[in-house]
Amino acid sequence: MIPLAKPYLTKEEAQAAYDTILTGWITQGPKVQEFEEKFASYTGASYAVAVSNCTTALHLAMIVAGVSTGDEVICPSMSYIATANAIKYVGAVPVFAEVLPETYNLDPVDVQRKITQKTKAILIVHQIGLPADIDAFAALCQKNNLILIEDAACAIGSAYKGKKIGSHSDLVCFSFHPRKVISTGDGGMITTSRKDFYKRLKLLRQHGMSISDRVRHEAKSLVFEDHVEVGYNYRMTDIQAAVGIKQLDKLDWIVSERRKIAMAYNNAFSEIPFLQLPFENDGYFSNYQSYCVYLKRSSPLSRNDLMQLLLDSGIASRRGVMNAHRETAYAKDAEGLSLPISEDLQDNTIILPLFIPMGKDEINYVIDTLIGALKSNVASEAI
Ligand SMILES: *Cc1c(COP(=O)(O)O)cnc(C)c1O
Repeated sequence: MIPLAKPYLTKEEAQAAYDTILTGWITQGPKVQEFEEKFASYTGASYAVAVSNCTTALHLAMIVAGVSTGDEVICPSMSYIATANAIKYVGAVPVFAEVLPETYNLDPVDVQRKITQKTKAILIVHQIGLPADIDAFAALCQKNNLILIEDAACAIGSAYKGKKIGSHSDLVCFSFHPRKVISTGDGGMITTSRKDFYKRLKLLRQHGMSISDRVRHEAKSLVFEDHVEVGYNYRMTDIQAAVGIKQLDKLDWIVSERRKIAMAYNNAFSEIPFLQLPFENDGYFSNYQSYCVYLKRSSPLSRNDLMQLLLDSGIASRRGVMNAHRETAYAKDAEGLSLPISEDLQDNTIILPLFIPMGKDEINYVIDTLIGALKSNVASEAI
């Protein structure tokens, strides 16, 4: 069976976790700080704040952006559901805008149409690793006095106009879930260039405590903490951070290996008229967190039949990105909403296996099986 994905973890990560456990300091401490510094330096951001996952990162981003009850935040429905959930956590309303059929990323024209007096922020998503057009949304935000938040859960190691994702705006949220490009089991990070955001994020992730455990532990004279606002426990552990440091060292290599596999798929599928391949315009650099193809109307096989055929051949695949507004939890938000492009993409896209190391034989088996399935069905339809 060829899996869809698997994290690239080695003995180095296991050793780092082992060593950290034996130091006796296992939750947020020196390793978290080291990971944050390295992450900020990697992305080119001024500051990075580690948290428990990207969902909690998005929640804290909403809070420091000042989003609260009754505010509207424009975001795609076509995203993992955590994007919209984070808006709900602060009592705000997710306003779903349409995506572009080539890039799966938010359409600036539809976003502009959906700005109202109540709009407070735009939450863009770099879908499956391909950056959205950050400049277009930054301009919209500036013009309308809105805050830009980036859901970069999938986009660690991706770049936009020559700069790494994480360096363009003031609230960029990352995930280290095993399904993303590097992993700490679970984990998240927020990058920012604003010192006020940085300080507040550090408070909020640890119960609003004015003094961290570590500072208190290392103090030579008595210090007492104050809880200056109602915060959360969204800490990352030092065990996770130690793994993250090793993963970050490998990130550029992981991305370049992922891109080689994506290019092999692109080359092989370019001759198949039924497939729309991933899109990467000049100035956009994807980490290929997922490799997703769109099955055109002309395809002789339905998306689900093709997925079943792949499964029968021992190849895992997944349907494309979900639409939050089609989930039961969002039934009310979906009333009267029309997002034909997002729905069509959800219904007619397939995510194919991409992980490292992925052998040439495995890559070719996926390619041959998929092309073979489409071709043989064309032939049988012709008969
Ligand atoms: C995975 C993902 C999240 C959630 O990340 P967690 O770290 O699992 O909380 C949020 N948004 C998008 C777009 C994602 O793909």
